[in-house]
Amino acid sequence: MNYQRAEFVISAAKLRDCPPDSLAEVAFAGRSNAGKSSAINTLTRQGQLARTSKTPGRTQLINFFRVAEGRYLVDLPGYGYAKVPLKVKDDWQVHLEHYLNTREPLAGLVLVTDIRHVFKDFDLMMIDWARQNQLPLHVLLTKSDKLKRGGVQDALQKARLALEGLEDASVQSFSSLKRLGVDVLSQRLDEWLEP
Ligand code: GDP
Repeated sequence: MNYQRAEFVISAAKLRDCPPDSLAEVAFAGRSNAGKSSAINTLTRQGQLARTSKTPGRTQLINFFRVAEGRYLVDLPGYGYAKVPLKVKDDWQVHLEHYLNTREPLAGLVLVTDIRHVFKDFDLMMIDWARQNQLPLHVLLTKSDKLKRGGVQDALQKARLALEGLEDASVQSFSSLKRLGVDVLSQRLDEWLEP
């Protein structure tokens, strides 16, 4: 799949706004600031595709990028944006759960985590959710350029331990800054998106 062909389609506030023609899609989730937007921009080689600066008002929106006919990358709202009022956080959780629980074409979940924080509350919640729903999971440990080689290996090991018991889970290190890990990510996405 050529992810450079990704194009923005819609920001969906509700499940009914999600593209009806989707045959397969992969959702990206992560805490705010984990590096999710940067990872999507790096994968697609489009600097501005997923906005790296976010405003609280956009928190509840699910952004869809078409990569091929009926194939989508989905940017889920970042979790834990500090300035968002509690009410919006609640709405966010309801939206996200609704999407994750009912979206038929959802083929896999990419969990984006800062490699220096393996794993925090939100990540553990998502891993648990993937386990319960038997959804294939790929963990992207971003900002790997921030650690030395040994630190990267330790983080990978820690992540693998936390993923034990999941039927279909994988983990990799990734750096948007250095463009490291793009091929591994593309291959995993291909498994989910290619017909
Ligand atoms: P998001 O909130 O998860 O979408 O995170 P962003 O993509 O906006 O990134 C949050 C911050 O981390 C920004 O300042 C980015 O420049 C920085 N960042 C993202 N990816 C990397 C990376 O691979 N390496 C380094 N050093 N910084 C990164």
